[in-house]
Amino acid sequence: GEALAVSARVAPLGSRLVLLLVEDLTEARRIEAVRRDFVANVSHELKTPVGALSLLSEAVLDAKDDPEAVERFAGRMQVEATRLTSLVQELIDLSRVQNDDPLEDAEPVRVDELVAEAMDRCRHAAGTKQITMAAGGAADLRVWGHRGQLAAALGNLVENAVNYSPSRTRVGIAARRVQAAGGDLIEIAVTDQGIGISEKDKERVFERFYRVDPARSRATGGTGLGLAIVKHVAASHGGEVTVWSSEGQGSTFTLRLPRAGASLDRTPGRSRIP
Ligand code: ADP
Repeated sequence: GEALAVSARVAPLGSRLVLLLVEDLTEARRIEAVRRDFVANVSHELKTPVGALSLLSEAVLDAKDDPEAVERFAGRMQVEATRLTSLVQELIDLSRVQNDDPLEDAEPVRVDELVAEAMDRCRHAAGTKQITMAAGGAADLRVWGHRGQLAAALGNLVENAVNYSPSRTRVGIAARRVQAAGGDLIEIAVTDQGIGISEKDKERVFERFYRVDPARSRATGGTGLGLAIVKHVAASHGGEVTVWSSEGQGSTFTLRLPRAGASLDRTPGRSRIP
């Protein structure tokens, strides 16, 4: 009788344990699948420019008596080599933000400096398209985090705003302090008047290698890794990145980060992933 009572008490516990184990296994499988996809994607992305370089070098050899053709092929080789370089650089950046705990090197970082740096990085691209960049609200605000990672995140958002906008439009960067349920935060919003993102794509643009229009992304030197880096940086700082967009009208990407000097009422990082 007693054994029965005990096993009756243990049984539900046992099934919960089994359920937990199964959930754990499913999660492990999911992570493994994501890793496999990533390797497959990287291989594919690397193969494209390498394949092009190999074909172009053959074309150069075949055309050595035609200086004009040699020049044309060499020019295209340069484009492919640049693509390869930026892809490898973004892979290095991604692995760095995934492996380093940003809060080990955290310090108060001035928002106006981050904004100026991000704008400098895009000045040339914006200039050729006559895109006006304007920033406001950043004076006196400081976020708590890893300077290099924060600069990379904001730089990516401003770069995208310029890349996915037509000529003679405006890119705005607005910073402000917000005190919300999530804590004492700094919000940095990057707004463009560009092509926008459809409802269906909005959920996916933060995935590694996801591009709405691969041809367009490639033309601007995109790798599909930028927003994955931004999302990772935001989450590991205990913040988040969100997007609002209207197709054909423009987009706003908003970074929320912990304010430097704010009392930490929760452990930063790992807690909230958008
Ligand atoms: P990419 O290197 O292709 O720019 P990202 O990860 O930065 O990669 O962005 C993923 C995709 O999201 C882009 O290819 C583009 O289709 C879309 N996207 C990102 N930012 C914007 C924006 N500001 N306006 C419109 N589409 C955008």
